[in-house]
Amino acid sequence: MLTTAGELSGTVFEEMSRLAARTGAINLGQGFPDVDGPPEMLDAAAAALRGGGNQYSPVAGVPQLQEAVAEHQCRFYGLEPDPASGVVVTVGASEGLAASLLAFLRPGDEVVTFEPHYDLYGAVVEFAGARLVTVPLEPPRFSPDLDRLAAAFGPRTRMVVLNDPHNPTGTVFDDAVLSRVVELAEEHDCVVVTDEVYEHLRYDGAHRPLAALPGAFERTLTVSSVGKTFSATGWRVGWVSGPEHLVGAVRATKAYFTHSAATPLQLGAAAALGLPDAFYEGLAEDFRQRRDVLMQGLAAAGAEPFEPQGTFFVVADVRALCERHGVGDATALAPVLAERSGVVGVPVPALASAAHRGLYGTWMRFSFGKRRDLLEQAAQRLAG
Ligand code: PMP
Ligand code: GLN
Repeated sequence: MLTTAGELSGTVFEEMSRLAARTGAINLGQGFPDVDGPPEMLDAAAAALRGGGNQYSPVAGVPQLQEAVAEHQCRFYGLEPDPASGVVVTVGASEGLAASLLAFLRPGDEVVTFEPHYDLYGAVVEFAGARLVTVPLEPPRFSPDLDRLAAAFGPRTRMVVLNDPHNPTGTVFDDAVLSRVVELAEEHDCVVVTDEVYEHLRYDGAHRPLAALPGAFERTLTVSSVGKTFSATGWRVGWVSGPEHLVGAVRATKAYFTHSAATPLQLGAAAALGLPDAFYEGLAEDFRQRRDVLMQGLAAAGAEPFEPQGTFFVVADVRALCERHGVGDATALAPVLAERSGVVGVPVPALASAAHRGLYGTWMRFSFGKRRDLLEQAAQRLAG
Protein backbone atom coordinates (compact mmCIF):
# COMPACT_ATOMS: atom_id res chain seq x y z
CA MET A 1 0.00 0.00 0.00
CA LEU A 2 1.14 3.56 -0.62
CA THR A 3 1.72 5.55 2.51
CA THR A 4 1.20 9.28 2.68
CA ALA A 5 4.99 9.67 2.83
CA GLY A 6 5.13 8.14 -0.64
CA GLU A 7 6.91 5.00 0.53
CA LEU A 8 6.03 1.80 -1.23
CA SER A 9 5.42 -1.49 0.47
CA GLY A 10 3.72 -4.58 -0.99
CA THR A 11 0.35 -4.26 -2.70
CA VAL A 12 -2.89 -4.96 -0.86
CA PHE A 13 -3.58 -7.76 -3.37
CA GLU A 14 -0.38 -9.59 -2.43
CA GLU A 15 -1.17 -9.04 1.22
CA MET A 16 -4.67 -10.51 0.89
CA SER A 17 -3.41 -13.52 -1.10
CA ARG A 18 -0.85 -14.17 1.65
CA LEU A 19 -3.63 -13.91 4.24
CA ALA A 20 -5.69 -16.47 2.29
CA ALA A 21 -2.71 -18.84 1.97
CA ARG A 22 -1.89 -18.56 5.68
CA THR A 23 -5.45 -19.14 6.89
CA GLY A 24 -6.60 -21.57 4.17
CA ALA A 25 -9.49 -19.17 3.40
CA ILE A 26 -11.23 -18.90 0.01
CA ASN A 27 -9.43 -16.10 -1.80
CA LEU A 28 -11.97 -13.65 -3.20
CA GLY A 29 -9.39 -10.91 -2.67
CA GLN A 30 -6.85 -10.72 -5.49
CA GLY A 31 -8.74 -10.78 -8.79
CA PHE A 32 -7.64 -13.64 -10.99
CA PRO A 33 -9.57 -16.50 -12.60
CA ASP A 34 -9.05 -20.06 -11.39
CA VAL A 35 -9.57 -21.86 -14.70
CA ASP A 36 -7.47 -22.08 -17.86
CA GLY A 37 -8.27 -19.96 -20.90
CA PRO A 38 -9.60 -21.22 -24.26
CA PRO A 39 -7.87 -24.28 -25.77
CA GLU A 40 -7.22 -22.43 -29.07
CA MET A 41 -5.04 -19.97 -27.15
CA LEU A 42 -3.18 -22.65 -25.21
CA ASP A 43 -2.59 -24.73 -28.35
CA ALA A 44 -1.22 -21.76 -30.32
CA ALA A 45 1.22 -20.89 -27.52
CA ALA A 46 2.33 -24.52 -27.15
CA ALA A 47 2.86 -24.81 -30.92
CA ALA A 48 4.98 -21.64 -30.86
CA LEU A 49 7.04 -22.96 -27.92
CA ARG A 50 7.74 -26.21 -29.77
CA GLY A 51 8.08 -24.53 -33.15
CA GLY A 52 11.06 -22.27 -32.55
CA GLY A 53 9.18 -19.16 -31.38
CA ASN A 54 11.46 -18.68 -28.40
CA GLN A 55 13.52 -15.58 -29.11
CA TYR A 56 12.90 -11.85 -28.69
CA SER A 57 10.00 -10.44 -30.62
CA PRO A 58 10.17 -6.91 -32.05
CA VAL A 59 9.75 -4.28 -29.31
CA ALA A 60 6.22 -3.47 -30.51
CA GLY A 61 5.24 -7.16 -30.48
CA VAL A 62 4.82 -9.98 -32.98
CA PRO A 63 3.04 -8.65 -36.08
CA GLN A 64 0.34 -11.35 -35.72
CA LEU A 65 -0.68 -9.94 -32.33
CA GLN A 66 -0.50 -6.32 -33.50
CA GLU A 67 -2.85 -7.32 -36.35
CA ALA A 68 -5.15 -9.24 -34.00
CA VAL A 69 -5.41 -6.26 -31.59
CA ALA A 70 -6.21 -3.88 -34.47
CA GLU A 71 -8.83 -6.29 -35.86
CA HIS A 72 -10.39 -6.72 -32.41
CA GLN A 73 -10.63 -2.93 -31.95
CA CYS A 74 -12.34 -2.70 -35.32
CA ARG A 75 -14.67 -5.72 -34.88
CA PHE A 76 -16.05 -4.64 -31.51
CA TYR A 77 -15.68 -0.86 -31.50
CA GLY A 78 -15.18 0.36 -35.08
CA LEU A 79 -11.78 1.78 -34.11
CA GLU A 80 -8.97 1.63 -36.66
CA PRO A 81 -5.53 1.81 -35.06
CA ASP A 82 -2.75 1.08 -37.54
CA PRO A 83 -1.52 -2.45 -36.69
CA ALA A 84 2.16 -1.58 -37.14
CA SER A 85 2.40 1.93 -35.72
CA GLY A 86 -0.74 2.18 -33.57
CA VAL A 87 -0.41 -0.98 -31.47
CA VAL A 88 2.33 -1.89 -29.00
CA VAL A 89 2.37 -5.19 -27.12
CA THR A 90 3.35 -4.95 -23.44
CA VAL A 91 4.04 -7.20 -20.45
CA GLY A 92 0.46 -7.18 -19.18
CA ALA A 93 -1.72 -4.11 -19.04
CA SER A 94 0.53 -3.20 -16.10
CA GLU A 95 3.49 -2.41 -18.33
CA GLY A 96 1.17 -0.79 -20.86
CA LEU A 97 -0.10 1.57 -18.17
CA ALA A 98 3.33 2.24 -16.67
CA ALA A 99 4.87 2.99 -20.08
CA SER A 100 1.92 5.19 -21.09
CA LEU A 101 2.18 7.24 -17.90
CA LEU A 102 5.97 7.51 -17.84
CA ALA A 103 6.16 8.40 -21.54
CA PHE A 104 4.19 11.60 -20.94
CA LEU A 105 4.44 12.64 -17.29
CA ARG A 106 7.07 15.01 -15.96
CA PRO A 107 7.69 16.23 -12.39
CA GLY A 108 4.96 18.57 -11.22
CA ASP A 109 2.35 17.33 -13.72
CA GLU A 110 -1.10 16.34 -12.45
CA VAL A 111 -3.13 13.28 -13.38
CA VAL A 112 -6.88 13.10 -12.82
CA THR A 113 -8.60 9.82 -11.98
CA PHE A 114 -11.61 8.51 -10.08
CA GLU A 115 -11.18 6.78 -6.75
CA PRO A 116 -11.10 4.24 -5.26
CA HIS A 117 -8.68 3.13 -7.96
CA TYR A 118 -6.31 0.38 -9.02
CA ASP A 119 -3.18 0.87 -6.93
CA LEU A 120 -0.70 0.93 -9.82
CA TYR A 121 -1.83 4.41 -10.94
CA GLY A 122 -0.73 6.05 -7.70
CA ALA A 123 2.63 4.27 -7.63
CA VAL A 124 3.57 5.08 -11.23
CA VAL A 125 2.45 8.70 -10.95
CA GLU A 126 4.82 8.97 -7.99
CA PHE A 127 7.67 7.39 -9.96
CA ALA A 128 7.23 10.22 -12.47
CA GLY A 129 7.32 12.87 -9.71
CA ALA A 130 3.79 13.83 -10.74
CA ARG A 131 0.66 14.13 -8.57
CA LEU A 132 -2.57 12.14 -8.67
CA VAL A 133 -5.73 14.24 -8.23
CA THR A 134 -8.67 11.99 -7.43
CA VAL A 135 -12.42 12.43 -7.75
CA PRO A 136 -14.30 10.15 -5.36
CA LEU A 137 -17.09 7.87 -6.55
CA GLU A 138 -19.31 8.04 -3.51
CA PRO A 139 -21.10 5.06 -2.01
CA PRO A 140 -23.69 3.68 -2.17
CA ARG A 141 -24.21 4.50 -5.89
CA PHE A 142 -20.65 5.26 -6.96
CA SER A 143 -21.79 7.62 -9.72
CA PRO A 144 -19.37 10.35 -10.75
CA ASP A 145 -20.06 13.97 -9.90
CA LEU A 146 -19.27 15.90 -13.09
CA ASP A 147 -18.77 19.22 -11.30
CA ARG A 148 -16.17 17.66 -9.03
CA LEU A 149 -14.58 16.10 -12.08
CA ALA A 150 -14.28 19.50 -13.79
CA ALA A 151 -12.91 21.04 -10.60
CA ALA A 152 -10.10 18.46 -10.52
CA PHE A 153 -8.61 19.89 -13.73
CA GLY A 154 -6.18 22.78 -13.58
CA PRO A 155 -3.22 24.35 -15.38
CA ARG A 156 -0.91 21.47 -14.45
CA THR A 157 -3.24 18.66 -15.56
CA ARG A 158 -1.42 16.61 -18.18
CA MET A 159 -3.35 13.35 -18.18
CA VAL A 160 -6.59 11.59 -17.30
CA VAL A 161 -6.61 7.90 -16.40
CA LEU A 162 -10.04 6.33 -16.87
CA ASN A 163 -10.64 2.74 -15.81
CA ASP A 164 -13.84 1.54 -17.48
CA PRO A 165 -15.35 -0.89 -16.41
CA HIS A 166 -14.09 0.29 -13.06
CA ASN A 167 -12.11 -1.71 -10.52
CA PRO A 168 -13.06 -1.96 -7.65
CA THR A 169 -16.65 -0.60 -7.90
CA GLY A 170 -17.86 -2.42 -11.03
CA THR A 171 -19.22 0.88 -12.34
CA VAL A 172 -19.47 1.50 -16.08
CA PHE A 173 -19.29 5.11 -17.25
CA ASP A 174 -22.11 6.29 -19.50
CA ASP A 175 -21.80 8.52 -22.55
CA ALA A 176 -22.39 11.71 -20.55
CA VAL A 177 -19.38 10.97 -18.36
CA LEU A 178 -17.18 9.84 -21.25
CA SER A 179 -18.05 12.95 -23.31
CA ARG A 180 -17.32 15.23 -20.36
CA VAL A 181 -13.92 13.57 -19.90
CA VAL A 182 -13.17 14.15 -23.59
CA GLU A 183 -14.30 17.79 -23.39
CA LEU A 184 -12.16 18.46 -20.32
CA ALA A 185 -9.18 16.68 -21.88
CA GLU A 186 -9.55 18.89 -24.97
CA GLU A 187 -9.89 22.05 -22.92
CA HIS A 188 -6.76 21.25 -20.91
CA ASP A 189 -4.88 19.58 -23.76
CA CYS A 190 -4.43 16.28 -21.90
CA VAL A 191 -3.63 12.76 -22.93
CA VAL A 192 -6.30 10.24 -21.89
CA VAL A 193 -5.19 6.76 -20.85
CA THR A 194 -8.04 4.28 -20.62
CA ASP A 195 -7.63 1.03 -18.70
CA GLU A 196 -10.09 -1.40 -20.29
CA VAL A 197 -8.90 -4.76 -18.97
CA TYR A 198 -12.53 -5.64 -18.08
CA GLU A 199 -13.91 -4.64 -21.51
CA HIS A 200 -15.58 -8.03 -22.09
CA LEU A 201 -16.93 -8.48 -18.57
CA ARG A 202 -20.09 -6.43 -19.10
CA TYR A 203 -23.55 -7.29 -17.79
CA ASP A 204 -25.95 -4.76 -19.27
CA GLY A 205 -24.81 -4.03 -22.79
CA ALA A 206 -21.66 -3.77 -24.84
CA HIS A 207 -18.54 -1.92 -23.79
CA ARG A 208 -17.98 1.45 -25.43
CA PRO A 209 -14.38 2.69 -25.33
CA LEU A 210 -13.82 6.38 -24.73
CA ALA A 211 -11.59 6.42 -27.85
CA ALA A 212 -14.72 5.75 -29.96
CA LEU A 213 -16.27 9.12 -29.01
CA PRO A 214 -16.04 11.92 -31.58
CA GLY A 215 -12.65 13.63 -31.42
CA ALA A 216 -11.29 11.31 -28.73
CA PHE A 217 -9.08 8.86 -30.66
CA GLU A 218 -6.29 11.35 -31.40
CA ARG A 219 -5.56 11.99 -27.73
CA THR A 220 -6.31 8.55 -26.24
CA LEU A 221 -4.19 5.51 -25.40
CA THR A 222 -6.34 2.41 -24.88
CA VAL A 223 -4.87 -0.31 -22.67
CA SER A 224 -6.02 -3.92 -22.28
CA SER A 225 -4.67 -7.44 -21.82
CA VAL A 226 -5.35 -11.18 -22.03
CA GLY A 227 -5.57 -11.50 -18.24
CA LYS A 228 -9.30 -11.26 -17.59
CA THR A 229 -10.87 -11.91 -21.00
CA PHE A 230 -8.87 -15.09 -21.57
CA SER A 231 -8.23 -16.18 -17.97
CA ALA A 232 -4.47 -15.78 -18.38
CA THR A 233 -3.31 -13.28 -15.76
CA GLY A 234 -0.04 -15.22 -15.44
CA TRP A 235 0.87 -14.80 -19.10
CA ARG A 236 1.61 -11.12 -18.66
CA VAL A 237 0.57 -10.13 -22.17
CA GLY A 238 -1.18 -6.82 -22.79
CA TRP A 239 -1.26 -4.01 -25.33
CA VAL A 240 -1.74 -0.30 -25.91
CA SER A 241 -3.46 1.03 -29.02
CA GLY A 242 -4.12 4.51 -30.36
CA PRO A 243 -2.79 7.12 -32.75
CA GLU A 244 0.78 6.75 -33.98
CA HIS A 245 2.10 9.94 -32.33
CA LEU A 246 1.11 8.70 -28.87
CA VAL A 247 1.78 4.98 -29.31
CA GLY A 248 5.27 5.74 -30.67
CA ALA A 249 6.22 7.38 -27.36
CA VAL A 250 4.89 4.39 -25.42
CA ARG A 251 6.89 2.01 -27.61
CA ALA A 252 10.08 4.05 -27.11
CA THR A 253 9.56 3.97 -23.33
CA LYS A 254 8.67 0.30 -22.97
CA ALA A 255 11.72 -0.71 -25.02
CA TYR A 256 13.81 0.19 -21.97
CA PHE A 257 11.59 -1.64 -19.46
CA THR A 258 11.33 -5.16 -20.87
CA HIS A 259 12.19 -4.83 -24.58
CA SER A 260 9.37 -7.24 -25.47
CA ALA A 261 6.79 -9.62 -24.03
CA ALA A 262 7.10 -13.45 -24.17
CA THR A 263 7.03 -14.42 -27.86
CA PRO A 264 5.10 -17.75 -27.71
CA LEU A 265 2.49 -16.25 -25.41
CA GLN A 266 2.00 -13.33 -27.79
CA LEU A 267 1.18 -15.88 -30.50
CA GLY A 268 -1.30 -17.56 -28.15
CA ALA A 269 -2.88 -14.17 -27.45
CA ALA A 270 -3.25 -13.50 -31.18
CA ALA A 271 -5.22 -16.76 -31.54
CA ALA A 272 -7.39 -15.88 -28.56
CA LEU A 273 -8.36 -12.41 -29.82
CA GLY A 274 -9.52 -13.97 -33.08
CA LEU A 275 -12.09 -16.24 -31.38
CA PRO A 276 -15.65 -15.86 -32.69
CA ASP A 277 -18.24 -13.56 -31.10
CA ALA A 278 -19.86 -16.59 -29.42
CA PHE A 279 -16.81 -16.94 -27.15
CA TYR A 280 -17.13 -13.38 -25.90
CA GLU A 281 -20.90 -13.66 -25.41
CA GLY A 282 -20.53 -16.92 -23.47
CA LEU A 283 -17.89 -15.32 -21.25
CA ALA A 284 -20.15 -12.45 -20.18
CA GLU A 285 -23.08 -14.81 -19.50
CA ASP A 286 -20.91 -17.13 -17.43
CA PHE A 287 -19.60 -14.27 -15.32
CA ARG A 288 -23.10 -12.84 -14.92
CA GLN A 289 -24.26 -16.10 -13.32
CA ARG A 290 -21.28 -16.12 -10.98
CA ARG A 291 -21.93 -12.49 -10.08
CA ASP A 292 -25.47 -13.40 -9.06
CA VAL A 293 -24.27 -16.27 -6.85
CA LEU A 294 -21.89 -13.94 -5.02
CA MET A 295 -24.40 -11.08 -4.75
CA GLN A 296 -27.01 -13.41 -3.22
CA GLY A 297 -24.46 -14.90 -0.84
CA LEU A 298 -23.36 -11.47 0.36
CA ALA A 299 -26.93 -10.28 0.83
CA ALA A 300 -27.84 -13.47 2.74
CA ALA A 301 -24.86 -12.80 5.04
CA GLY A 302 -26.24 -9.35 5.88
CA ALA A 303 -23.88 -7.34 3.64
CA GLU A 304 -25.25 -4.77 1.20
CA PRO A 305 -23.73 -5.42 -2.21
CA PHE A 306 -23.68 -2.86 -5.04
CA GLU A 307 -24.62 -4.55 -8.33
CA PRO A 308 -21.68 -4.18 -10.73
CA GLN A 309 -22.34 -3.47 -14.41
CA GLY A 310 -18.88 -4.73 -15.30
CA THR A 311 -15.63 -6.35 -13.96
CA PHE A 312 -15.57 -9.48 -11.79
CA PHE A 313 -15.81 -7.60 -8.51
CA VAL A 314 -18.66 -6.82 -6.14
CA VAL A 315 -18.17 -4.11 -3.54
CA ALA A 316 -20.40 -4.50 -0.51
CA ASP A 317 -21.14 -2.47 2.59
CA VAL A 318 -20.08 -4.95 5.29
CA ARG A 319 -21.20 -2.85 8.25
CA ALA A 320 -23.38 -5.71 9.58
CA LEU A 321 -20.45 -8.14 9.40
CA CYS A 322 -18.23 -5.64 11.21
CA GLU A 323 -20.83 -5.40 13.99
CA ARG A 324 -21.23 -9.18 14.17
CA HIS A 325 -17.49 -9.64 14.53
CA GLY A 326 -17.00 -6.67 16.84
CA VAL A 327 -14.64 -4.70 14.61
CA GLY A 328 -14.79 -1.07 13.52
CA ASP A 329 -14.23 -1.20 9.76
CA ALA A 330 -13.45 -3.27 6.66
CA THR A 331 -9.69 -3.02 7.19
CA ALA A 332 -10.03 -4.61 10.63
CA LEU A 333 -12.62 -7.08 9.32
CA ALA A 334 -10.37 -8.58 6.60
CA PRO A 335 -8.14 -10.74 8.87
CA VAL A 336 -11.06 -11.62 11.16
CA LEU A 337 -13.22 -12.77 8.25
CA ALA A 338 -10.34 -14.88 6.94
CA GLU A 339 -9.79 -16.56 10.32
CA ARG A 340 -13.41 -17.00 11.43
CA SER A 341 -15.37 -17.36 8.17
CA GLY A 342 -12.65 -18.61 5.84
CA VAL A 343 -13.22 -15.91 3.18
CA VAL A 344 -10.85 -13.16 2.04
CA GLY A 345 -11.90 -9.87 0.44
CA VAL A 346 -10.04 -6.59 -0.16
CA PRO A 347 -10.90 -3.65 2.12
CA VAL A 348 -11.83 -0.80 -0.21
CA PRO A 349 -10.10 1.88 1.93
CA ALA A 350 -6.79 0.34 0.78
CA LEU A 351 -7.63 1.58 -2.73
CA ALA A 352 -8.52 5.13 -1.68
CA SER A 353 -6.54 8.27 -0.86
CA ALA A 354 -6.04 9.34 2.74
CA ALA A 355 -8.40 12.29 2.13
CA HIS A 356 -11.33 10.11 1.05
CA ARG A 357 -10.64 6.79 2.78
CA GLY A 358 -13.35 7.45 5.35
CA LEU A 359 -16.05 7.29 2.65
CA TYR A 360 -15.29 3.60 2.12
CA GLY A 361 -14.64 2.56 5.74
CA THR A 362 -17.14 -0.31 5.80
CA TRP A 363 -16.81 -1.38 2.16
CA MET A 364 -15.11 -4.54 1.00
CA ARG A 365 -14.42 -5.89 -2.49
CA PHE A 366 -15.02 -9.56 -3.35
CA SER A 367 -14.08 -11.19 -6.67
CA PHE A 368 -16.43 -13.55 -8.50
CA GLY A 369 -13.74 -14.52 -11.01
CA LYS A 370 -13.73 -17.92 -9.32
CA ARG A 371 -15.32 -21.33 -9.90
CA ARG A 372 -19.00 -21.46 -9.10
CA ASP A 373 -18.64 -24.18 -6.47
CA LEU A 374 -16.10 -22.04 -4.60
CA LEU A 375 -18.43 -19.03 -4.74
CA GLU A 376 -21.27 -21.14 -3.35
CA GLN A 377 -19.02 -22.40 -0.58
CA ALA A 378 -17.88 -18.83 0.19
CA ALA A 379 -21.53 -17.71 0.34
CA GLN A 380 -22.34 -20.48 2.87
CA ARG A 381 -19.32 -19.59 4.98
CA LEU A 382 -20.22 -15.89 5.05
CA ALA A 383 -23.80 -16.65 6.11
CA GLY A 384 -22.76 -19.24 8.74
N1 PMP B 1 -5.86 -2.49 -14.50
C1 PMP B 1 -6.81 -2.96 -13.68
C2 PMP B 1 -8.00 -2.12 -13.41
C3 PMP B 1 -6.68 -4.21 -13.09
O1 PMP B 1 -7.63 -4.67 -12.28
C4 PMP B 1 -5.51 -4.97 -13.36
C5 PMP B 1 -5.29 -6.28 -12.69
N2 PMP B 1 -5.84 -7.25 -13.40
C6 PMP B 1 -4.56 -4.45 -14.24
C7 PMP B 1 -4.75 -3.20 -14.78
C8 PMP B 1 -3.31 -5.19 -14.59
O2 PMP B 1 -3.52 -6.05 -15.66
P1 PMP B 1 -2.42 -7.08 -16.15
O3 PMP B 1 -2.54 -8.28 -15.27
O4 PMP B 1 -2.77 -7.37 -17.57
O5 PMP B 1 -1.09 -6.43 -16.02
N1 GLN C 1 -6.11 -6.79 -10.83
C1 GLN C 1 -6.17 -7.63 -9.69
C2 GLN C 1 -7.07 -7.03 -8.64
O1 GLN C 1 -7.48 -5.91 -8.72
C3 GLN C 1 -4.86 -7.94 -9.03
C4 GLN C 1 -3.61 -7.60 -9.73
C5 GLN C 1 -2.47 -7.50 -8.76
O2 GLN C 1 -2.27 -8.34 -7.91
N2 GLN C 1 -1.73 -6.45 -8.87
O3 GLN C 1 -7.36 -7.72 -7.72
